[in-house]
Amino acid sequence: MKRIYLDNSATTPLCPAAREAMLRAMEEFGNPSSLHAQGVAAAKLLKESRTLIGEALGERFLKEGQLVFTSCGTEASALALLGTAYAKERRTAKTILTTDSEHPSVARTLDKLEAEGFRVVRVPTVGGAPDMDVVRAHCTPDLFMVSMMLVNNETGAVYPVREVFQLARAANPQVVCHTDAVQGFMKLPFTPRALGADLVTISAHKIGGPKGVGALFISERMKKEKRIVPVMLGGGQEFGLRSGTENMIGIAGFAAAAGSAMSKLRTAHAHMASLRERLTAGLAGTEITVNRPANAAPHIVSITLPDIKSETMLHYLSGQGISVSAGSACSAHKVGPSSVLLAFGLPSRRADCTLRVSLSPENTAADIDALLAALATGVSSLVRINH
Ligand code: PLP
Repeated sequence: MKRIYLDNSATTPLCPAAREAMLRAMEEFGNPSSLHAQGVAAAKLLKESRTLIGEALGERFLKEGQLVFTSCGTEASALALLGTAYAKERRTAKTILTTDSEHPSVARTLDKLEAEGFRVVRVPTVGGAPDMDVVRAHCTPDLFMVSMMLVNNETGAVYPVREVFQLARAANPQVVCHTDAVQGFMKLPFTPRALGADLVTISAHKIGGPKGVGALFISERMKKEKRIVPVMLGGGQEFGLRSGTENMIGIAGFAAAAGSAMSKLRTAHAHMASLRERLTAGLAGTEITVNRPANAAPHIVSITLPDIKSETMLHYLSGQGISVSAGSACSAHKVGPSSVLLAFGLPSRRADCTLRVSLSPENTAADIDALLAALATGVSSLVRINH
């Protein structure tokens, strides 16, 4: 049975370009910090990979230290948030503005900073739209940092990062603006410059690259003003911001995946948006509702079932050869409703009955039709929760 994979926001299969680049990189075993021939060859590959990812971010001429490779998106956000907070010399303001629906990598890191004395304001995101009145109310000279994700991983809501960063900067020109763009990179056309972002988190395994590699983009201003310090100390790799020998095979795969996705970004966006519309239209008039945010990304569709636990349907669909997720993979082992769906405005009971369908450019209309058919048989046959 050919399986249909509709959980691309959890992770994507390795794309052919990444696989080839990784196989080549396995032959180049040198350490990029070494001075001999093998080291020089590895350093060249590292530089080329950095350049390619810079181009995918719309930065053709990255300056030294503007892209730091990490072990994943989670680590890139930890470096962004903790590295900025601990660069004490320049810090006077104390407020951090974020949303109530960030990925745990940002949310838990900000909980830690709150416990250490920062004032963290979590903007409500009902319907997938950050409350701009709350944003405006907290854009004051005390604003130290803003961390707002570009695309929500559970609802597909695109947050108005650019507008929020503009408001923040108008209130305090020294504010540091970070966005977790793990679900936006190579899905939406954006550049850090156009967003006005100082720090941007990206990850390889959501775009056809391997697991275990991410990167933090750092604006020239942040770098020049030394507003970020390392959280992991050691040999001083990655411009002193992330010690540890670089994951060369992963980095080569990441860059190749970004290069490949970059060349197809606009057609991929249109294709996934058309699949999203096909799914939405196919569910119209059924008992399943689509949790459509105000501004929806092309590749994530959140749907709520009629009193059928998401896990029950997930296992049923899996048995039918279709992979989707209940909430997000990162929280799949947690008990209780997703805090992101509650923040979206779903009552806890409906949040428990919500699935995420996440698309890749490789999915087809036939995949969506198969999902619609399987959902219909599932809805008519599966056990419902008693009220
Ligand atoms: N941020 C968002 C929005 C995500 O969806 C994820 C992963 O699902 C991450 C961060 C974490 O990325 P990584 O798995 O590379 O640590």
